[in-house]
Amino acid sequence: MTISNTPQQRYPIAKEPCRYCSGPVTWSIKIDNRFPAHVTLEGFLLDDGRCPKFKKLNPQPAPLLSSSGTNLDNGIGSEFYLVNQDRVPPLYAYEIKHGSMAFQKVAGKLAYQSKTRFGGHWTTADYRIISDKKVYPAVLEQFLKELWNEDLPPFKMVRSIAPDTAWSPSSLAIATFVARELVSSDLQKQIDKALDSESRKDKKDVNLRIEADVRPWVVDCKPVVSISISTSIESKVDLKTYTGSAPQ
Ligand SMILES: [Zn+2]
Repeated sequence: MTISNTPQQRYPIAKEPCRYCSGPVTWSIKIDNRFPAHVTLEGFLLDDGRCPKFKKLNPQPAPLLSSSGTNLDNGIGSEFYLVNQDRVPPLYAYEIKHGSMAFQKVAGKLAYQSKTRFGGHWTTADYRIISDKKVYPAVLEQFLKELWNEDLPPFKMVRSIAPDTAWSPSSLAIATFVARELVSSDLQKQIDKALDSESRKDKKDVNLRIEADVRPWVVDCKPVVSISISTSIESKVDLKTYTGSAPQ
């Protein structure tokens, strides 16, 4: 998170001091959307606002992605990043037994339904549904029964969904989870934010489009994620309107 404040700004000091360091804090700025920021006795922001004692005990974790140093040129100008596996949450796999329907077709929909129901991150990899949420067999059975009752055709084909406790994630599964569930959604938020601030500026006839393409790879047996960002400007005026309004 970035904190933009003028250095002179003073913040109201909260009644309760920080319970780690007993230092003064303010609720006017929240760190990680949760913790009050640390301030000086005068109410000025202290460094980045994070608790100095907590920072000392818990140094900032390594980032999720680090520059791979690998020069892979796929011709689309992507940047490649090595996934720091310590930062990936424990993953669980769920095996689907289904009828004749193609795995991808039903698994993708089930992953989506599971995300809606159980929260967390869900995607498909290693011919399974994978998630950072642990769901117990009985709960999954009940969930599937409810999907059957909702009369959604693809789920009629699913006979069972059950945890695969013997599974350990392949490098591709880790890269897939990180690319689709952690990086893509995070990037999308940042892009939406950027576009939002951009659209506030007066741009009459053009739309700015920013698209991120995040893909999983395995390089030297390690999970790698590529990110490519493309920006384009498109006219809000379509050709017909344009030619119609253009002088003949
Ligand atoms: Zn503190």
